[in-house]
Amino acid sequence: MKVTSSEIVISAVKPEQYPDLDLPEIALAGRSNVGKSSFINKLLNRKNLARTSSKPGKTQTLNFYIINEVLHFVDVPGYGYAKVSKSERDAWGKMIETYFTKRRQLCAAVLLVDLRHAPSKDDVMMYEFLKHHDIPTIVVATKADKIPKGKWQKHMKVVRETLDKDPNDPLICFSSETGQGKVEAWSAIEHYTNL
Ligand code: GDP
Repeated sequence: MKVTSSEIVISAVKPEQYPDLDLPEIALAGRSNVGKSSFINKLLNRKNLARTSSKPGKTQTLNFYIINEVLHFVDVPGYGYAKVSKSERDAWGKMIETYFTKRRQLCAAVLLVDLRHAPSKDDVMMYEFLKHHDIPTIVVATKADKIPKGKWQKHMKVVRETLDKDPNDPLICFSSETGQGKVEAWSAIEHYTNL
């Protein structure tokens, strides 16, 4: 998709705050620091729309972006940050459970993992949660530029096997530094949103 406009619509914590528009929606999830903001910025050709390396522990909100007036991205707050309190973790869980189970407009999720390492226990839990709710999931393995191209296939295999990935879910090798995988990511998003 050729992105001609993108802006943040709202930071929401509850359904009454979700945008009341009937646009296809893609939710983006991943552990803190995986490169989710960088992925969003790269896809939208923006330097700093989604805030990179925002401090964990700040208010956790679902950030809705509107793209070309036809599509929503929903930035789900990152998980797996050790210093988060139990009550914050519980609130996060409740918020994402509500969103993923109730949002009619949701077409697919993008789950970001780090290509350099096997997916964490939290990554596996997140993927299993999405599969449990029958949400098509585009798995994006980030920071590909940090390992040599010759090792990509080996690392992709670890990602696939650790997640026990459904063969129907695409796995995309991505770098926000080089733009590797950007076209593929957009194709997958267009596929699930019928755009
Ligand atoms: P978020 O917490 O998931 O939103 O992660 P950010 O997008 O803020 O990225 C975390 C850190 O990883 C930042 O220092 C980014 O510059 C870096 N980063 C993100 N994506 C990539 C990538 O594809 N390649 C490299 N080399 N660094 C990346």
